[in-house]
Amino acid sequence: MSNDPNDPRNVRARQRADRIREMVPIAAVLASYGYPVRVDAAHREQQFCCDLHGDGRDTKPSARVYPYSQSAYCFACDKTRDAIEMVRAKEGLDFWGAIKKLEADYDLPALPVEYGYEPVADPYQAFDQKAADLDPHKTFEEDCRALARLLEALSAPPRQLTLDDALAYWEGLDRVVHLVQGEKEGEPGEWDESRGRAALASLLARLRQQTQGPPR
Ligand SMILES: [Zn+2]
Repeated sequence: MSNDPNDPRNVRARQRADRIREMVPIAAVLASYGYPVRVDAAHREQQFCCDLHGDGRDTKPSARVYPYSQSAYCFACDKTRDAIEMVRAKEGLDFWGAIKKLEADYDLPALPVEYGYEPVADPYQAFDQKAADLDPHKTFEEDCRALARLLEALSAPPRQLTLDDALAYWEGLDRVVHLVQGEKEGEPGEWDESRGRAALASLLARLRQQTQGPPR
């Protein structure tokens, strides 16, 4: 497939992937593979053991499911997976194979071509308003939450970020938060709040560059 985001095949792929992320709860997918994740508590972050790294035994729960991004992150794998990536990893399927399996398993009908893609009047202005939430004088936690809200807005329809880009940013934010909180094993004391702030600022700068393009 070409890299042109406007290539109809790429648009179609995004539409089908986006619908799965919106309609199929990641907690349900995890539970269907036997991970001890409660589907009736799908609004909460939940930790679980991951069998996708090392010899498949995870004595401490290394993975966590994030309802707000509908993805799971495993510290040991160092990988964020949405429903599609989880099915790929568990079933050994390629991208299209995973999409078709999820559409069949969750009874998703054939997709109208225009699904989820309303024109955006001024995406740059929307970004500026959200980015203004990020105030360097607030606490690190508040800045993280503001960046999470911004990512959420940019990942939701009408989208400014592709699925891959959105996942990469969510992973970056998760990584910053957990490193600063000292949850990453083997790197104690290596990170502190000032480094976390610098990492947050660089995430935001990258995001701004990608979603706003060259200066107007
Ligand atoms: Zn893992």
